[in-house]
Amino acid sequence: MTATDDGALVLFSGGQDSTVCLAHALDGFARVETVGFDYGQRHAVELACRLRVRAEIASAFPAWGARLGLDHVLDIRSFGAIGDTALTSSAEIQMLASGLPSTFVPGRNLVFFTYAAALGYRRGLHILVGGMCETDYSGYPDCRDATLRALEQAIRLGTEVPFVIDTPLMWLSKAETWELAHKLGGDALTDLIIEHTHTCYRGERGKRHAWGYGCGACPACELRAKGFEQWQAIREQRRMQSRAG
Ligand code: ZN
Repeated sequence: MTATDDGALVLFSGGQDSTVCLAHALDGFARVETVGFDYGQRHAVELACRLRVRAEIASAFPAWGARLGLDHVLDIRSFGAIGDTALTSSAEIQMLASGLPSTFVPGRNLVFFTYAAALGYRRGLHILVGGMCETDYSGYPDCRDATLRALEQAIRLGTEVPFVIDTPLMWLSKAETWELAHKLGGDALTDLIIEHTHTCYRGERGKRHAWGYGCGACPACELRAKGFEQWQAIREQRRMQSRAG
């Protein structure tokens, strides 16, 4: 792919998926900036990973580094506060099957993209890139393609700018997301993802697994580990086939 003159703004949390989105944007667009959201989350570890991942990408891939512009962190704590236990009836506070507490605020991606569009409008960045995915993980209706296509229309109408919401991971399995990372940046990028990105819901970075750091037991870690194993199996199969051929 050759980079276009369009500018992209990547919703960037420092996690695995948004790092692949950042690589995708740097591969495809001449000018790329990143935005993160501080909504008062308990695990500041993800936010702390962001600058590290950006710096590692810029140094490992100089051509991408030349396209990588500013990072923005927007304070949306008032939105995060809606999930605060003080505002929630105590009977409702429990862990959901997703592994997130029920105090988690729904509709988060609607807020993220609306803020990103306002920022992109000011910065002249009209491609909004996010790592939402329906394939492995469809627990949240605001991650779904239909929701984001409708939001894209609403943003276009509400700004009179032809914004595009670009979700390169929407139909990929986690194994295919690793595959995409490898296609974009080879071992250098997949190693960087393993070493520096953070996905664990519990915010643990103590133990290093083959797939990276995390508690290894929360749904996010389980998903990441399973996807990595599947990707490894696919690569091994390919190696065997090329030897046999
Ligand atoms: Zn975990």
